[in-house]
Amino acid sequence: MPTFIVLLGPPGVGKGTQAKILSKKTGLAHISSGDLFRENLKNQTELGKLAQTYMTKGELVPDDVTVAMVKDRLTRPECKMGAILDGFPRTPAQAQALETMLQDFNGQVDSVPFIAAGEDVLLERLTSRWTCRAEGHVFNAKTNPPQVTGKCDFDGSELYQRDDDKEETVKNRIKVYFNQTSPLISYYQNHGKLVEINGAQSIDRVTQDLMAALNK
Ligand code: AMP
Repeated sequence: MPTFIVLLGPPGVGKGTQAKILSKKTGLAHISSGDLFRENLKNQTELGKLAQTYMTKGELVPDDVTVAMVKDRLTRPECKMGAILDGFPRTPAQAQALETMLQDFNGQVDSVPFIAAGEDVLLERLTSRWTCRAEGHVFNAKTNPPQVTGKCDFDGSELYQRDDDKEETVKNRIKVYFNQTSPLISYYQNHGKLVEINGAQSIDRVTQDLMAALNK
């Protein structure tokens, strides 16, 4: 049976960073809905242009298009063993749609690590975040700088600051998270899937805690 892990947590808590590490360690595919939207935007697809109108404001892209995009990715061969979902689901409707689609793959949501940190930590991390153009690797100007300024350590591509990492948009993204996504905490808690992880720790410590939670 395939394994599906949902990484839950507010923007800037380190879901993307940890999903990349866990994907390497477990061999499971990494699916980031935000990366998929950014890829569509880069390629100027209709979906990308639609998503941009929401992303620049820090709002959520409507459920129907988001669900269809993730479903399309989940049907690819690289997800046969399962996947680590990063940034999806973000609403109760998306969580329900995910359950239905995983049934088609004889799977289910196996574990939901909820990575938590205070708003001050999130704001600080997002506004000093630098992202690589090629693969979305992330660095932090203060706590996790790249070896060469402006260049990704992993693939040498250019680092840029995401438009939606500007302070005003960041504040709205955090608000949207509390209003629309945080109900998923109790949803997965009630399903017995949630494991809380302290996201204010170093990258290595968070990975250790995540691996310990997943091995249980
Ligand atoms: P992220 O890279 O996860 O921070 O996502 C960046 C932006 O993409 C979000 O602020 C939303 O506008 C959009 N987005 C990503 N994932 C979702 C989702 N599951 N549902 C709706 N919008 C999303």
